[in-house]
Amino acid sequence: MASALALARRGIRSQVFEKAPEFGEIGYGIQQGPNAYRMLDWLGVMKDLEPQAVFTKNLILIDALTDREVARISCGDTFRKHFRAPYTVVHRRDLHGALLEACRKRPEVTLHTSKELAEFEDRGASVVARFADGTECEGRALIGADGLRSRVREIVIGDGAPRPAGHVTYRGVIPLDQVKDQSHFDDMVIWIGPRLHFVQYRLRGGTVMNNVATVASRRFENCERRDYGGPDELAEIFSRTTPHVQEMLGYVGKDKNWVLHDREPRPGWTRGNVALLGDAAHPTLQYLAQGACMAIEDSVVLSGLLKRALADGGDVPTALEAYEKERYLRTARVTLTSRIFGDIIHADGGARDLRNHLLEKRTPETFWEIDWLYRGIEAA
Ligand SMILES: Cc1cc2nc3c(=O)[nH]c(=O)nc-3n(C[C@H](O)[C@H](O)[C@H](O)COP(=O)(O)OP(=O)(O)OC[C@H]3O[C@@H](n4cnc5c(N)ncnc54)[C@H](O)[C@@H]3O)c2cc1C
Repeated sequence: MASALALARRGIRSQVFEKAPEFGEIGYGIQQGPNAYRMLDWLGVMKDLEPQAVFTKNLILIDALTDREVARISCGDTFRKHFRAPYTVVHRRDLHGALLEACRKRPEVTLHTSKELAEFEDRGASVVARFADGTECEGRALIGADGLRSRVREIVIGDGAPRPAGHVTYRGVIPLDQVKDQSHFDDMVIWIGPRLHFVQYRLRGGTVMNNVATVASRRFENCERRDYGGPDELAEIFSRTTPHVQEMLGYVGKDKNWVLHDREPRPGWTRGNVALLGDAAHPTLQYLAQGACMAIEDSVVLSGLLKRALADGGDVPTALEAYEKERYLRTARVTLTSRIFGDIIHADGGARDLRNHLLEKRTPETFWEIDWLYRGIEAA
């Protein structure tokens, strides 16, 4: 939907085909770095989204074995000035709803549900998309924004299933009055520990608390069980944390979990008039909280290059190749840095001691590690 909106802003018509019977999102939080905020603002959705967004005051890391703060990034005036935008967190339904409403208002966008892309045929001057229900649609280009297990990727690259990281996440959104420790209500906090972390921030204008617990499974590494990372392993890995952190495990649901995946970065996301976008092109672990942010950036870049190509006489494949070239290494950096950040926050023993020692030397207005990321891109 971000791609459709970006194309509409450039005066290009598009049709969105979603395989689910309805457009919708599951009900958990999503962080938006300032790079994504500026793109969403350019797309025109921030005005509707702002009342629901929470403007994070600080990004805080706390050692889960001691409850001691080890690092803090202040998202105040200096941060906003430096990155030209705030750090915000939103409920996925709110972000999705704002994008959907904005798409519905644009005459350039047509939305379809219950349309599962099965095949496509690139005819050179156009592409025909064929759907599981037997219908088809012809267009000038096809953008495969169909997620982690993308059918379009299967056809364009065919590099098999994504890579399981062996990490499992549990989530929960609860009323504020059920949160015992209210000292970090305006912050995004991550309690970090050996093979684990716990994320907490408020959503929906600050009225509810989002909680995310993640463990890096030992059973996965030892190939003991295929159904690794169950609630018993979650409890076992968190058993070394402080009583306060263990208590917070009660805030997440145990009946559903998310098994995390990414892919090795690689080029080749475009073929002729077809290109991949978002998780279909470059799925990442969530440790930089940038997967959706990258999809939104992709959309803005792609729309700009397509507009220029169409204005100049219409070489779509060249525009798609230029899009991939512009996005490939930035998204590769996100994927690979997310893995490294995951290793750092999950460290134990000497690695944990060194991490805490080095992080404690930072000031809240040290931004160099995230500068390349949060400075983002221009919408031109
Ligand atoms: C635990 C967790 C926390 C995260 N936190 C953050 C965060 O804080 N910030 C952030 O930026 N990112 C975060 N992410 C990453 C983010 O969720 C993804 O990167 C983002 O959803 C990718 O968007 P997408 O549109 O590419 O794919 P998706 O969101 O997967 O959307 C793909 C869509 O395509 C549809 N589809 C699939 N196949 C077909 C088909 N054949 N035909 C038609 N439709 C099809 C699907 O139904 C779906 O609606 C997190 C991820 C996880 C797992």
